[in-house]
Amino acid sequence: MQTFDVIVVGSGAGGGIYAKVLTEAGARVLLIDAGGHNIDKDIRHHQWPWQLPQRDQYRGDAEYTVRLQTKYYVPGKGAQTRATTFDGSAHNTYYNDHFWAKRRDWKYTYPKDKPYRWVRVRALGGKTNCWDAGAARWGPLDFKPATYDGYDVDWPVDYAEMAPWYTKTEQLIGVSGGPDTHSEHCPTGSWLPPMAGRCGELRLANAAAKNFGLFSFGSPKAAITRNYRGRPACHFCGPCHYGCDSGSKFTTIGVLLPSALATGKLTIRMNTIVGSVLTTSDGLARGVSYIDRYTFRQGEAYAPIVVLAASAIETARLMLNSKSSRFPNGLANSSGQVGRNLVENITASVSGDLPDFQDREVINEDGWGMGLMIAPFVNVDEKSRNKNFIRRHGLTLHSGFGMGAGGGSSRYLFGEDQKRDVRRWYGTNISVAGQGEGIQNPNNFVDIDPEVKDAWGIPAARIQLTFGENEQKMVENITAWGIKLIEAAGGEVKGWTASPSIPGGSIHEQGTCRMGDDPKKFVTNRWGQCHDIKNLLIGDGALHPTCSIGDPTLTIMAVSMRNAENLVKLVRNGTLKT
Ligand SMILES: Cc1cc2nc3c(=O)[nH]c(=O)nc-3n(C[C@H](O)[C@H](O)[C@H](O)COP(=O)(O)OP(=O)(O)OC[C@H]3O[C@@H](n4cnc5c(N)ncnc54)[C@H](O)[C@@H]3O)c2cc1C
Ligand code: SF4
Repeated sequence: MQTFDVIVVGSGAGGGIYAKVLTEAGARVLLIDAGGHNIDKDIRHHQWPWQLPQRDQYRGDAEYTVRLQTKYYVPGKGAQTRATTFDGSAHNTYYNDHFWAKRRDWKYTYPKDKPYRWVRVRALGGKTNCWDAGAARWGPLDFKPATYDGYDVDWPVDYAEMAPWYTKTEQLIGVSGGPDTHSEHCPTGSWLPPMAGRCGELRLANAAAKNFGLFSFGSPKAAITRNYRGRPACHFCGPCHYGCDSGSKFTTIGVLLPSALATGKLTIRMNTIVGSVLTTSDGLARGVSYIDRYTFRQGEAYAPIVVLAASAIETARLMLNSKSSRFPNGLANSSGQVGRNLVENITASVSGDLPDFQDREVINEDGWGMGLMIAPFVNVDEKSRNKNFIRRHGLTLHSGFGMGAGGGSSRYLFGEDQKRDVRRWYGTNISVAGQGEGIQNPNNFVDIDPEVKDAWGIPAARIQLTFGENEQKMVENITAWGIKLIEAAGGEVKGWTASPSIPGGSIHEQGTCRMGDDPKKFVTNRWGQCHDIKNLLIGDGALHPTCSIGDPTLTIMAVSMRNAENLVKLVRNGTLKT
């Protein structure tokens, strides 16, 4: 039997960092993932929608498709309902059942009136394969939010402690942005130069600066604008969330796993679904039990240290499913907090167009869609305190010709008239988008459904998350700013989001095993080590006590790097045995 020092469950952003840091420190690591290595053949780059096998018309699994609704306001028409359908795929471009976790097999439940869009990837590298790679740092107030507004809890670490870990992570994965944010609320990182702003974005940025004193900068993105550490610079093809065939965007399989494998210390077991954590009679973790995704063969793997990095909801599900007489409420759950505090940011946007851009010359304005960013400026000090909501949001400015000419003026036209109309309006679109912090709510949590099991017989997660008054007011503030910016830029507003995004819609779920010093209130200590089981660590966004304005992945990686290096110290000084 092969022996390992550490088992890491999940090879996404958090698990990938653990695998790299631990193997480079000499540990024998078993990395287990429920997915396979299949992204390369699924990449749909450099193809137009009409070249795709189903012309971008994938219809989903009707029986398991849920309709999710948001409100959108259109001037002259009033509030409209917009529906998104969801069967497990985040978008329609991969026509397969092996990459996205489809709801039919990978079951989960939610209260009938509170649908949750839980996007999961089952592939080596997890969601980093298809993420958009937005990688802004969180600032001092994001780590100490309760100190500012008195709500909920602070993080056990502050920005000063996290800053060097952000730098180390950025230098490892390659991030472009800035060049300078001029704001401590979105601190400047160790960045390669940003992608240049597009025409409409620069128009919005100038209007923001001139009329409101707001500074814009290139949105930080974990993709490289220069050749960097053996990876080629981005060629600005655009659809990064399909996967990046040049490897310019950071992924776990492109950056972290190759160096971990090069140590000779990493064993990867793919298509292997972990169902629970095994424990010893004295209450320590001793390994995991698993089932093969395709053959259904069951097995166990053993190691003196176990790290769970299966993503926030799945990690909580694993712990709650690991019940025993010693841990009747699930593993490391003496606080009762495993699965509680599920949280994610909201998104909202305002769209418009610039009439004086009509009929402009068509130029190449492809490139990634991160646009320019404005750092949080509401609720950042006494002067900017908002009476209607707590916490912060950040804005991004977008424009460009993009892929597909769009709908023209949206009038019903045919033939030549329609072509002329589409050409006239192509490239006039602009938008202001916002991501804002969702706040903790005792009614938002994940637990285990007492009846439903997934296709492998593992009890399913039951997820409950709704947004409240605070998120609604924040959406109103984001859209009010979006309208002001578009109008100040000389644009016409076409519509805006009138309700918080669909729960799960941001794909940024966090908070189900929060870290903190008090074992009665938090699941792990400040190093991601479970208070109840010192050789069980959490390595994903489940640790985050709050979710900040959005884009959690850089922080997941920086926290994982800090905690993985601490784990190496604990083993070396004999506190933990391997
Ligand atoms: C389309 C899209 C765009 C995104 N854009 C951004 C962005 O711009 N910025 C940002 O910050 N974030 C973005 N995200 C979110 C980002 O991808 C996640 O925050 C990040 O990947 C989370 O890392 P993780 O390690 O917690 O989980 P994941 O990356 O999901 O990895 C978890 C891994 O665990 C495996 N696993 C799960 N359960 C089990 C089990 N029981 N047994 C074994 N293995 C298991 C999965 O197969 C998976 O490989 C985006 C996500 C998507 C889908
Ligand atoms: S735009 Fe750049 S980072 Fe995005 S997929 Fe294309 S090459 Fe990769």
